[in-house]
This record gives sequence, C-alpha cells and structure tokens, in this order.
Amino acid sequence: MNTTGIQTGPGTESGLLDQFGRRATDLRISLTDKCNLRCTYCMPAEGLDWLAKDAQLSAAEIRRLVRIGVDTLGVRELRLTGGEPLVRADLVNIIAGLRADHPDLPISMTTNGVGLAKKAAALKAAGLSRLNVSMDTLHEETFKQLTRRPFLDQVLAGIDAAAAAGLTPLKINAVLMRDINDHDGVDLLTWALERGYELRFIEQMPLDADHGWTRKDMVTAAEIREHLSTKYVLSVDPRARDGAPAERFEVRSPSSEAVLGIVGIIASVTEPFCSDCRRTRITAEGKVMSCLFSREEVDLRTLLRSTDDDGAIAQRWQEAMWAKPKAHGMGHTGLGDADFVQPDRSMSAIGG
Ligand code: SAM
Ligand code: SF4
Repeated sequence: MNTTGIQTGPGTESGLLDQFGRRATDLRISLTDKCNLRCTYCMPAEGLDWLAKDAQLSAAEIRRLVRIGVDTLGVRELRLTGGEPLVRADLVNIIAGLRADHPDLPISMTTNGVGLAKKAAALKAAGLSRLNVSMDTLHEETFKQLTRRPFLDQVLAGIDAAAAAGLTPLKINAVLMRDINDHDGVDLLTWALERGYELRFIEQMPLDADHGWTRKDMVTAAEIREHLSTKYVLSVDPRARDGAPAERFEVRSPSSEAVLGIVGIIASVTEPFCSDCRRTRITAEGKVMSCLFSREEVDLRTLLRSTDDDGAIAQRWQEAMWAKPKAHGMGHTGLGDADFVQPDRSMSAIGG
C-alpha cells in the first residue's frame, strides 16, 4: 500500500505492474488528437472537437514523462502516435529531445504518411528509429472512400521517402472493411513483399467516433488468412511472439520453399492477446489509459504542471496501471456482450 491507500505493487522498482501480474514496458504517447484524414473506422466526417493548444502536452512535458517512464518505471520502447503526429509542428524537436535523453531507446512512430515525403529525412536525423505507415488500399478511389481525402499519392511518396531515409524495418498497417477494401489484402501483400515491407492487418475495433462498428461487418483474422491463402502459403513464424500484438506468418508462394517475407495479423477482437499486453498509453492531454478500451482515465497533466516531484507522477502512473482491466471485455461474441461498453473516446483521441 502507498500513502494514498491504493495498492500499486511493491514500489517504483516494480515498474508499471498491474494486479494480474502484467508489466507495461511499451509506452505509446499521442502527440495530438488532430488529423488530416477522416478514416471512417476512426473519425467522423466533420472531425472532432480538437484540444486547445495549451490543453495538449508540451514538448517539455512529453520529454519529462518519457524520462520518468524510462528512468524509473521500466519503459523499454516508445511509440509516438495520434491523431496524426506529422501535423504537430514541433515533431522533429520532440524526437530530437527524446533521443538526446535516451540514446538507446527504440523510438517508433505510427503515421498516415500524408506529408511524410518532406519530413522523413529530418525525422531520421532527429533520431527516430522506425515507422509504421497506415495504408489500407492501393486504389485511389477506395482510399478516398475510406479516408474521405484524395491523398493516396502522398502516402505512397511518403513510404518511399521513409525507406530511402532508412526508417526501417518499415511496417504498413491496414484495416480491411467489408465490401470496401476486403479484397485488397492480396494486392497489398504483393506490393509489400516486393518492397521488403512488413504488412500488418489490424482487425477493425469498435473505436470509431460514429459508433458504427458491427461484428458482422468486421473482417476477421480468419477471413484475412483465408483471403491471403488464395495466392500465398502462410505458416506461423517460428520466432517467439514475445508480447507482440501481431501474430506473424512466413509467406511463401505455393511453388517454392523460399520465404518471400512476413505478414502480421492483429486479431484484437477475435483472438485477443490481453493476457500478455505490455502497453501503457498517454493521450495528447496527458491522461494515462491502461487499455485501449478503458473507461477510466488518470490525469497526469495537472501534476506535470503543479509539481517538480517526479516521484508523485510516477506513483500516479503506477496507480493507473495497477487498475488495468484484465481484458477488454469483448469476449468472443463482440459488441453486445453484457460486459462490453464501447468507450467514449475514438481511436484518434486515444492514440492507437
Ligand atoms: N494517424 C496515424 C495513422 O493512421 O497511422 C496514427 C494514429 S491511428 C489511430 C493508429 C492506427 O490505428 C492506424 O494504423 C489505424 O489504421 C488504426 N485504427 C484506427 N481506428 C481503428 C479501428 N477502429 N480499429 C482498428 N484499427 C484502427
Ligand atoms: Fe487520422 Fe489515423 Fe484516425 Fe485515420 S486512423 S482518421 S489517419 S488518426
């Protein structure tokens, strides 16, 4: 027990432990809630009520939180996300500051790739380790339908620039939507294999701002595997999964033993991996979310702005993680389960 009466485990040396014995070592920080796309599975067409600039964590506050996470709470890797991190004007400075503090920390970023072509080299020079770029289709019209914006060319140019800058291994994230891009998986995989990128499919989760998700429309991991198997042979990657959300598969053509590359499938809904979750998330306004589907949020911004005591911030963060739910509650039947309520925040407002 600590002075607040909340049991958080034995102390800072225990890191971000929860009551089910999981320890979060993978920190995801959202740099902004704003975005220049309107993906239908994430944002409404009109956007959201964006945070005011001073409500958002500053570069110095982000740097301080990461220092606390790494130096005292056992954080071992960092992912920058959003909203769209590239829309943050001080992004390169944020990365340079984090890299100066933590020369060996793996720092990755998830981006939609819009505007990436101009910034990739600067991101690499500032110390970014690698990138995930989200791209759900190679077809301009489908891209426009999914993201409500005509920017596929920019995304493709951004991916090329990221590879040229050495932001590798480069991963491509794709969400498949029924009757929209559910037949694009094979083309995406062929394109990624030809370029040496690791494609990862993410099952659509009920985190859209429009609350339009339905289980019947969700393309499942099993369907994705079946679809990819129309052209390729998939076999489970023998390397240990080691807490990774994606189940990885070696990809071969039916006529050869040679491994062409790896594809990952993140089956958050139908094959959840909550029991091995190592993630802790901080929203753009400084709230800890112990789980993507958490309805509890713990504010760190007030402490960041009112005390020099890093120990108090570490303790509040630990308390938030101690209360991490055992699982997201979708079970195997999904939305409609008695114990599952879709969170108010959409993916962009959490930091995916
Ligand atoms: N804007 C950046 C991007 O799109 O890569 C970073 C933030 S975005 C919220 C992070 C990832 O979450 C993206 O790969 C996106 O496809 C995924 N995502 C968003 N909404 C989702 C949903 N409802 N279900 C599954 N994945 C989702
Ligand atoms: Fe923006 Fe990323 Fe959400 Fe698409 S998934 S609307 S790019 S935050």
